[in-house]
Amino acid sequence: MPAPFQFDNTYARDLPGFYARWQPAAVPAPDLLFFNHDLAAELGLDPDVLDGPEGAAIFAGNQVPDGAEPLAQAYAGHQFGGFSPQLGDGRALLLGEVVDRFGRRRDLMLKGSGRTPFSRRGDGKAAVGPMLREVLIGEAMSALGIPTTRALAVAATGEPVYRERTLPGAVLTRVADSHLRVGTFEYFSARRDTERVQQLAEYAIARHDPDLAGTDDRYLGLLRRVAQRQAALVARWMNVGFIHGVLNTDNVVISGETIDYGPCAFLEAYDPDAVFSSIDHGGRYAYGNQPPVTRWNLARLAETLLPLIAGQDTEAAVSRAVGQATEVIDAFPAWYAAELLTGQRAKLGLRGGDDASDRALAEDWLTLLQEHRVDFTLAWRRLADAADGNEAPLRALFPFPQAPDAWLARWRSCAESEGRSAADWRERAQHMRRVNPVVIPRNHRVEEALAAASEHGDLGPFQRLLAALQHPYDERPEQAAYHEPARAEVTACYRTF
Ligand code: AMP
Ligand code: MG
Ligand code: MG
Repeated sequence: MPAPFQFDNTYARDLPGFYARWQPAAVPAPDLLFFNHDLAAELGLDPDVLDGPEGAAIFAGNQVPDGAEPLAQAYAGHQFGGFSPQLGDGRALLLGEVVDRFGRRRDLMLKGSGRTPFSRRGDGKAAVGPMLREVLIGEAMSALGIPTTRALAVAATGEPVYRERTLPGAVLTRVADSHLRVGTFEYFSARRDTERVQQLAEYAIARHDPDLAGTDDRYLGLLRRVAQRQAALVARWMNVGFIHGVLNTDNVVISGETIDYGPCAFLEAYDPDAVFSSIDHGGRYAYGNQPPVTRWNLARLAETLLPLIAGQDTEAAVSRAVGQATEVIDAFPAWYAAELLTGQRAKLGLRGGDDASDRALAEDWLTLLQEHRVDFTLAWRRLADAADGNEAPLRALFPFPQAPDAWLARWRSCAESEGRSAADWRERAQHMRRVNPVVIPRNHRVEEALAAASEHGDLGPFQRLLAALQHPYDERPEQAAYHEPARAEVTACYRTF
């Protein structure tokens, strides 16, 4: 029988000193709760082998597949602004890399596979609920077209994990473009190990920006690319109302994917100050703070790259490098604003006219939603219906139906000034429905699905919600329960952990 995975492990091979080789812990009763057939097909894996007992053994960590070289990666990180020089994979192991059907190299990582040399006081374990949560949100993001890590599988372990309560344990298999974090650079930079920072930068360039390889200003180029990917990513988050919840530098990756679905949540009523994470007391990672905090995180990456950008250790070279890196960091807000506006124009059904007036139109729309505490996702979706001539559902979202009158008039005249005829409104509505989702992972629906799975072993609600999330732009009456927000009182006290 051929090996289930064709591993080719560049991280293990090229970066000795960046990790500890380690084995997953054995667990008593592997049971496959989720297997991602779409993703498996993308990776060229055989579902007949993996979606069964052999897969359960592999994805629970009991059987290390041929060719895997499990390792725990070293990294550091700024957590809520404070620097931790030693984090690392405390409950995760990189199994190895596979090249997918499109020639893209992907990491396969177990999460929840037991203690490692980086576990500190943690138990190295994960619980069923949070791992299935990572499946739901990751698949939703993927269906929304947002760069993200994805879950290949979740296996229950048959073992309890001890949190505030005793919970059933599970292991997640995560697929990522790589796991090169800002915190990985910080780990070696903090140890003044410039040689390893350089090795890491070369590895990152080869893997993510190969066109920069060998160029004179490649380290500055890498910083610029990472900043541009983050600008595009955060703009996508903002335009779907996603709140990551814990944007520490160890959760920000060079590849530009969304990673680490812990205390994340989606906005309901539009509110830039929205925070759901129980540990985010100061609102550092509030919805509206994500762009500036990402810039802050990028500045931490820039600091690690300064010696490489400078090339030599002279005062002149270093001060020139500081100037160049600062230019990139200072360019971030404009890159972000441009990405945001591109997305907003599509959501508004505009082709794009004058930047300043389109931006003002989008901002005033958001102000209107905030003022009347309107559900963010439904407001955009019902705006598409309004483009089609059906304004009532949009008006019904406001406390009184005339509330959006003045703004709607402006929007209409803005759209018409693009020179399109009235007949174009139907086409415009169709475009808008392709970028304004009607199904997002509503917090109360996610919790309901996880509670059924974790407390009663009932995967039905999880599977139904997942199926709906995989088609976020399709409005099906039988799925109306997934479209509606929770009651405001429920959202007001919603907390993530
Ligand atoms: P996170 O908040 O998920 O980004 O994790 C921050 C750090 O805590 C990382 O180094 C994780 O590996 C580590 N960590 C989180 N949970 C556990 C756990 N249960 N056991 C060991 N380490 C953990
Ligand atoms: Mg993390
Ligand atoms: Mg986490």
